[in-house]
Amino acid sequence: MSGLFSLNGRKALVTGANTGIGQAIAVGLAQAGAQVVCAGRRACDETVATITEAGGKAESILVDFADPMAGKGLFDSQGFDILVNNAGIIRRADAVDFSEEDWDAVMDVNLKALFFTTQAFARDLLARGVNGRVVNIASLLSFQGGIRVPSYTASKHGVAGLTKLLANEWAAKGINVNAVAPGYIETNNTEALRADPDRNRAILERIPAGRWGNAEDIAGAAVYLCTPASAYVHGAVLNVDGGWLAR
Ligand code: NAP
Repeated sequence: MSGLFSLNGRKALVTGANTGIGQAIAVGLAQAGAQVVCAGRRACDETVATITEAGGKAESILVDFADPMAGKGLFDSQGFDILVNNAGIIRRADAVDFSEEDWDAVMDVNLKALFFTTQAFARDLLARGVNGRVVNIASLLSFQGGIRVPSYTASKHGVAGLTKLLANEWAAKGINVNAVAPGYIETNNTEALRADPDRNRAILERIPAGRWGNAEDIAGAAVYLCTPASAYVHGAVLNVDGGWLAR
């Protein structure tokens, strides 16, 4: 049974692994046995220390996905089997005031970089003739509209769509492409929402589980999508939201 959930001998790259959900996923993958490369625009020292102190294998590399092609040379013959596209940003403003800068910044990191990084990963897998896993971090706003976050909503709808498109193209080539759609998770990304008492109360009232999620809640689902246990899962967007979308 344990082999179903083992990542022994696997090598993973997690983007935005210095904090929040990406950090928890990196730690979770390492606990399952993977060697983890933590990619961030800042060094992922804390994540690497957490993993290595527990006996796992990890290293940190600097990659800034504000350049959507930054992932291009990352994978060539480095032996990666797993890519987790977690890096993401959000910008908030009323739709009537929303700037082109806030549109482009979010679309570049959340969608364009995700696509071209995944393309670079898949090209390496196909060239080496080995199987692999891609896990994209989507959002409730892959399904819902949200408020005051137009580029974020557009990008995350795009992530769900690309997850399905890439699964269609690559499932038969041995590459599983799936996504996790986190609900409301306590990270830097949601600090502004939690600081607003009215929004915080409204959000909590709607979550069947009765609490905000934490990063480890997302890590379990992401690790599952990298293990042999999910071998026949392709193009899924797995909601991990305390039941939010069931309401
Ligand atoms: P977070 O703590 O802000 O983490 C975002 C990560 O992305 C950080 O490591 C951040 O680095 C990194 N990042 C941002 N821009 C980057 C760039 N240009 N190059 C490289 N790395 C970059 O927020 P989080 O909640 O953990 O977010 C992780 C993912 O989950 C995002 O895709 C987010 O959209 C998604 N998500 C979060 C929630 C939630 O409720 N928290 C819900 C749904 C989806 P820095 O630390 O340097 O900024």
